[in-house]
Amino acid sequence: MKRNAEATGQMVQLVRVARGLTQTELAKRAGLSQGVLSKFEAGAVDLEDDRLAALAAQLDVPVARLTTSEPTGGVLSACAFHRKRNSLPVSDANRIRANLDLRRMQVETLLPISEVGVTIERTSPSEDDWDNPETIALEVREAMCLGDGPIPDLVSAVEKTGAVVIVADLGAARIDAIGSWPTGHRPVFMLNAKTSADRRRFTLAHELGHAVMHQLPTDDQESEADRFASELLMPSNTIRDELTQLDLPKLVMLKPRWGVSMAALIRKARDVGSISDYDYKQLNIALSTAGYRTNEPVQLHEEFPQLVDHAIRQRLDDGEHFTELAAKALMTPGEFNAIYLRE
Ligand SMILES: [Zn+2]
Repeated sequence: MKRNAEATGQMVQLVRVARGLTQTELAKRAGLSQGVLSKFEAGAVDLEDDRLAALAAQLDVPVARLTTSEPTGGVLSACAFHRKRNSLPVSDANRIRANLDLRRMQVETLLPISEVGVTIERTSPSEDDWDNPETIALEVREAMCLGDGPIPDLVSAVEKTGAVVIVADLGAARIDAIGSWPTGHRPVFMLNAKTSADRRRFTLAHELGHAVMHQLPTDDQESEADRFASELLMPSNTIRDELTQLDLPKLVMLKPRWGVSMAALIRKARDVGSISDYDYKQLNIALSTAGYRTNEPVQLHEEFPQLVDHAIRQRLDDGEHFTELAAKALMTPGEFNAIYLRE
């Protein structure tokens, strides 16, 4: 069968990067020269079937994963945003981005986009500030039928829009999340399992903000995504009156109600004018003095994605064998089991 050498080369590169391997490492394991692998990934040469099979074996994927050219279209150029804590080595960023693309391709075989539409729309902030991150967040809340109060389970609310949420060990503590929403696909958000529950909620809201507002990167995108997240989780008109006369005990009480950190509540209180700049500074000092800056009291309950699990369970209940699902997702049964069937 004639395959598209260029697309196959790109897919080998994507999976290799997702596995955290350099060209030299993969070539050595598969018994090729680095030069041949490099030319192959660039689409300059094709490989014999047995060499491709050797690559697939070393990458722990079926050969079909490598030869099925872009089953979902456009995913290789997915735009990705991440909330960096400090600096993230480029290789880590590439590995995580490649994993996001791979996970999207797997999930889309299990959850075709045609089955459920995506109920949120893209809206960019306008130059005149008519559409700003706060108004856009309120529109998204409305599309998500969230009312005007706290969001008890943000992951579930985001999944109801048709987006996919994945909580995974991103292997690099410095990245909180990554997300992408290529046209014609579901938004996919991958959150670092190592972050605290309150941070993870704010991060998911932040990534949702990127997905909705930032089809193209902008200078202000990080602050805009934070403003979106703050308004999505804490609508100003509802929370304003609750944020007066703030002190630490009151913040401890408000934290689980709104599902945000005490630090986020203090910032919100200043932003909506419930406290003065002086109070803002004093509360932050109190937070530091109590040691809450690095370790806040009150752990929020964890939120777990269910969309993909439900789809898989339903197909298993309908009589499909997990090896069939693995084959459809272009995964080895072992990896499918480890990622999607782990309880
Ligand atoms: Zn961001």
